[in-house]
Amino acid sequence: MGHEVEKSDEEWKEILTPEEFKILRKKGTEPPFTGKLLHNRKKGVYSCAGCGNELFKSSSKFDSGTGWPSFFEPISEDSIEVKIDSSHGMKRTEILCRTCGGHLGHVFGDGPEPTGLRYCMNSAALHFKEK
Ligand code: FE
Repeated sequence: MGHEVEKSDEEWKEILTPEEFKILRKKGTEPPFTGKLLHNRKKGVYSCAGCGNELFKSSSKFDSGTGWPSFFEPISEDSIEVKIDSSHGMKRTEILCRTCGGHLGHVFGDGPEPTGLRYCMNSAALHFKEK
């Protein structure tokens, strides 16, 4: 709650694909090595598939080998929301879209320099715009 963009599940279902809905609104995870943006090397910006909020630049994308699109930093700390996630018997740090609260993925501390962080994102939570 308390997000700039708020919609009911029914409203989200009208604008999202079933896969996008499952991930963004129900905190799902796409199977590794299946996402459409995993091997995308083009220059541009990744935004939230739910609301269009810009999240990551292509210049921060790297190949983590995990099977999910990975970034070492967001466009801005203000574009995302960070939340402790204790589900599935693990303690992880969840990353959500600051504008609509959509679930994007998790962040881990085993990324490359300069941040040492790995933002592990679902392709289905992102839209890519070439620039
Ligand atoms: Fe969003």
